Amino acid sequence: MKQTRLISSEEVREQSEYMQKVRSFWGGRELYVYIETFGCQQNEADSERLCGMAVEMGYTPTTDPAEADLILINTCAVREHAELKALSITGQFKHLKEKKPSLQIGICGCMVSQEHRKEDVRRKYPYVNFLFGTSMLWRFPQILWEAMHAKRRTFHLDTGDPGNIAEGLPVRRAPGHKAWVSIMYGCNNFCTYCVVPYVRGRERSRQPACILEEVRTLAAEGYREITLLGQNVNSYGKDLAAEGERYDFADLLSDICKIPGDFQIRFMTSHPKDASEKLIDVMAREPKIAKAFHLPLQSGSDNILRAMNRVYNREHYLHLIDYMREKMPDIAITTDIIVGFPGETEEDFEDTLDMLRRVGYDNIYSFLYSPRKGTPAAEMTPVPQAIKSARFQRLLDTQYEIAARKVAGLVGTLQTVLVEGRSKTDVTRLTGRTEQNRLVHFEGDDALIGREAVIRITRAEPHALFGELE
Ligand code: SAH
Ligand code: SF4
Repeated sequence: MKQTRLISSEEVREQSEYMQKVRSFWGGRELYVYIETFGCQQNEADSERLCGMAVEMGYTPTTDPAEADLILINTCAVREHAELKALSITGQFKHLKEKKPSLQIGICGCMVSQEHRKEDVRRKYPYVNFLFGTSMLWRFPQILWEAMHAKRRTFHLDTGDPGNIAEGLPVRRAPGHKAWVSIMYGCNNFCTYCVVPYVRGRERSRQPACILEEVRTLAAEGYREITLLGQNVNSYGKDLAAEGERYDFADLLSDICKIPGDFQIRFMTSHPKDASEKLIDVMAREPKIAKAFHLPLQSGSDNILRAMNRVYNREHYLHLIDYMREKMPDIAITTDIIVGFPGETEEDFEDTLDMLRRVGYDNIYSFLYSPRKGTPAAEMTPVPQAIKSARFQRLLDTQYEIAARKVAGLVGTLQTVLVEGRSKTDVTRLTGRTEQNRLVHFEGDDALIGREAVIRITRAEPHALFGELE
């Protein structure tokens, strides 16, 4: 098997030179960058790197695309809906380009790592200046520099390499006290419905020393919550293991917990086939690790799990849940569910509802199955749309009842939250999150933002708690 390519420090330095070239080219002009990000936290983390590079090149981040000199659309390919949204927003930027011909528009991320989507952009969006795949992110300064000087549009697609890792790129994190840290990239699991392994390359882990150094810096800078990211964090280290003993995700977590500082650690996502008792033991032992576990089930039917190539069954999954609850009785458990995978029968779907009731999830993220070109499931017989939609509603109704019952017991309790900021729906309130990641709304002063507060819960809804400062 081909090895992960570590981008050398010379290559990263070369990109720094391109950053300086772009900056000097504009000669101190006031320039703005607008980044539109779709999809998962990994994409958000990538956008923070793109933003960091743009800032080094002299661009100021803006939330208004109309004032931008550079627009980047960082796309997602996991479901068709996300792709259509990205294409639709690209369409909306056409008039900006007409008003300001010097505007550079680039599309990157998972969607354009697929050949047919690259072709869509080439044919239907002629005003897009450049396009680059996920493995090209580290070369963004050079790509932009070349696009600024090219007479024609430029397309930088993934090269078919198994993937690379670039350390030392600048990063501009979103404001606040939370930070993402990617610990690995790519995926080897090839679930039959999923496009990720095709657009993100093979699983590759960052060196522990690089991750520990990044977390140490974030903790010293005062970040209060650090979320470790990977498509399957439980595979961490498999590719690093030499002949000797493997350094795995549980080892990494233990080492991160030794870093001094007042911060909480979260992680996502965990594939149930690789979630180990060792990992659960570390979580139970370490106060720095938030007691929240996102464990995507996808389906409660063993037949469908097999067709999805998930490599676990109900029994294994339930064993993990029992073990977690035994070690951490107050743990919050969340999951992802796909409704209407090809061949899903009424009985299979009932099995999913049964798992919801048995596990008693705090929250679920549910998706209608979306066929992805090039994946095995796209060739299977689909479930009719009307049946999919009806099942989806039943899933939501079932979960609503479960969550309502669970949160009802929280009324009257005291909950410690990390205060995030003003509520998006009601500016008179602040919002915070409990260790279990439950959202709490309460009245309070801005001075509390980024700090801990103790709230007495007065009202509980399935997706939010309400309370008063104690
Ligand atoms: N690596 C993560 C998931 C990444 S994709 C994991 O394995 O848990 C995030 C979620 O999108 C998945 O958990 C799945 O529920 C959903 N998803 C992925 N492909 C999908 C598809 N083709 N249709 C509908 N939902 C999908
Ligand atoms: Fe997709 Fe499965 Fe990999 Fe998750 S583990 S990214 S669902 S292939």
